[in-house]
Amino acid sequence: MNAPARAKDPRPPERMKAWVLGGPDELRLVEKPVPRPRAAEVLVRIGATAVCGTDLEVISHGPPALVQGGLPFNKNFTPGHEYMGTVVELGPGVDEFDIGDRVAVEIHAGCGRCERCREGMYTACVNYGMNYGDRDKGHRANGFTTDGGFAEYAVNHVNTLVPVPSDMSDEDATLIVTAGTAIYGLDVLGGLIAGQSVVVTGPGPIGLMGVGVAKALGASPVVLVGTERDRKRLEIGRKLGADEVVDVSREDAVAAVMRITRGKGAHYVLECSGAPNAVNDAAHMVSRGGRICLVAFAHAPVLVDVAHLVSNNIYVFGIRGEGRSATRRAAALMAQKRFPAQLLHTHSFPLEEVPTAVRYAAERIEDAIKVVVKMR
Ligand SMILES: [Zn+2]
Ligand SMILES: [Zn+2]
Repeated sequence: MNAPARAKDPRPPERMKAWVLGGPDELRLVEKPVPRPRAAEVLVRIGATAVCGTDLEVISHGPPALVQGGLPFNKNFTPGHEYMGTVVELGPGVDEFDIGDRVAVEIHAGCGRCERCREGMYTACVNYGMNYGDRDKGHRANGFTTDGGFAEYAVNHVNTLVPVPSDMSDEDATLIVTAGTAIYGLDVLGGLIAGQSVVVTGPGPIGLMGVGVAKALGASPVVLVGTERDRKRLEIGRKLGADEVVDVSREDAVAAVMRITRGKGAHYVLECSGAPNAVNDAAHMVSRGGRICLVAFAHAPVLVDVAHLVSNNIYVFGIRGEGRSATRRAAALMAQKRFPAQLLHTHSFPLEEVPTAVRYAAERIEDAIKVVVKMR
């Protein structure tokens, strides 16, 4: 398909603009060579890149980025992992995509040769970050271990690409990978969640997508828990399909879930807040035999009533990113407009203003939820 697009797209240039990380919190706009796709890879001309909470961690502290075996600072490394664009060059032997195809990306191309990759858990690849020198196992996680999307071009493995429908905007397409994480969480919980209760704690982008996805898959009721500061996000959560929203400054989260579920507790809790008390609260709001998925990174060790977990046969799962092709299913739900994902996109900035975009996301300026860097 897309022969006309092939004619429209000139050969990519030799050099491009890209942001690189100097020291912590130090972003610089530089010129870099445009990377060239190898076997099973394509070159993507980036259309838009969303700022994620994890980008803020990488830019300020380093982990979970791991570049050449260490911290990502002063290595000419380009962050940014939630992007979309257009295929402009095919590596040798690539026939899965055509030049001119619009695509969103999954972050992780695992090594494909370790035990976890073979199970579809490529976001937990055993060879994470092994992509340099004589330790090159082929692993890539763009924006974490290899160059990411705050640039004009990026190289992606074909396995990390998802087609974007023509009626979806560039900005909205960057949200596909966020929804992919929510789907992966529900996957790992093993939920055939239609008719079962799902509580989402923390109305950040992944939590809000968790609400949309859970509702689209038939969960009932869907409950979203946030704080007073999240008032605007809780309203958006309702529009995404939350049957009930709980503001913990007004009602205790556990008491509210027990009220809503008539004392039974929820079947599933998707913990997306990272709040210090969130895991213990989840333990007490889930039903006996229920399941908890931990999506958010907590900043410090947390105290949990383990005896309660054990005596109530409660399962706890941690996930990283979006494995098992969850992103493809996210794209399908969004293409079918099963929930209004576009409500998450609140701000756009051009490539030259990445530091401003990062600041808007970090400080939640003007109630920012998803801040997107849109290429011209
Ligand atoms: Zn992210
Ligand atoms: Zn692997």
